[in-house]
Amino acid sequence: METTPPEGESRSVKVLIIGSGPAGLSAALYAARADLAPVVLSGMDLGGQVSQTHIIENYPGFPEGISGSGLVEAFQKQAERFGAEIVFDMAIEADFSRRPFRVKTHGGEFLAEAVVIATGATPRKLGVPGEEEMIGRGVSYCATCDGHFFKGMDVVVVGGGDSALEEGLFLTRYAASVTIIHRRDSLRAGAILQKRALEHPKIKFIWDTVVTEIRGKDVVEGVRLKNVRTGEESTLKTSGVFIFIGHTPNTQLFEGQLEMDARGYLIADSKMRTSIPGVYVAGEAADPVFRQVITSAGMGAAAAMQVTHFLEENE
Ligand code: NAP
Repeated sequence: METTPPEGESRSVKVLIIGSGPAGLSAALYAARADLAPVVLSGMDLGGQVSQTHIIENYPGFPEGISGSGLVEAFQKQAERFGAEIVFDMAIEADFSRRPFRVKTHGGEFLAEAVVIATGATPRKLGVPGEEEMIGRGVSYCATCDGHFFKGMDVVVVGGGDSALEEGLFLTRYAASVTIIHRRDSLRAGAILQKRALEHPKIKFIWDTVVTEIRGKDVVEGVRLKNVRTGEESTLKTSGVFIFIGHTPNTQLFEGQLEMDARGYLIADSKMRTSIPGVYVAGEAADPVFRQVITSAGMGAAAAMQVTHFLEENE
């Protein structure tokens, strides 16, 4: 495993992959097998969001499920076996105005003939008073990371999608009770998760309700709630607030250079091409809809195959 070039120097590569989740590592595998010696910038966490997922039960090939970190490790090993190189660094600046494309990192600079953006997405925040101040003091966006701090305590989960229910179910391992607060009276999550959560003895639901404030002195002590139908306000005592209300794509770095929609998702065609020839995108940075390990991995493979054609035609 190499590092970024020394400060002030540039390193030329054929393919730079920005991000190391399922999309990035799958792109790396396919680009490596095409003999393109891809370099993957890991970003903050190798593997991205999936590395913090306790168990993945819907990635084919693992009938008993596999841990997120186990899957990432397998992806990494497989890509490295064919010559992909993972660099533990982050892209902090990108210039796609001409080829080779320039990507600055904390450690140096890369000049790349082609780029695959696989920067993923970040959990969305509620934006209510107390949330920022209480991060790490009872407010969390990752049950797998923080669940064990809440042994025997009462916690709340905000959201009604697959993430809220999956993480809520995971929290029942530790918490005395899990109260899921959802802004509507029906869940967005899939049928299997709904059934498991609705039948779980430790899980309660509060419907048609939003959290308007997170309260506590040094640590979370409660949440202020508002029923959106009746307008009634109340306070619920809790030690933890786990928030799963969707994601924001990590594409700020490319603003003004690549076409994106109003929410910041990169716009790609069916061949994973962005608005700049030679810059491709895969995974959640361009996908507000599917957001699965398998779909991100598929997009990564497709992007790398297109990069291969692009380089053949443009070298
Ligand atoms: P999501 O499906 O977008 O659900 C977000 C939930 O948060 C929705 O219930 C939404 O309410 C609620 N919400 C959004 N903004 C809110 C706000 N400001 N205040 C209160 N509630 C708010 O997000 P997700 O659960 O993270 O899932 C994202 C994608 O990943 C989905 O496609 C999902 O299927 C997939 N995923 C799959 C699995 C799995 O297959 N096991 C696991 C995790 C995620 P509304 O329902 O009213 O819009």
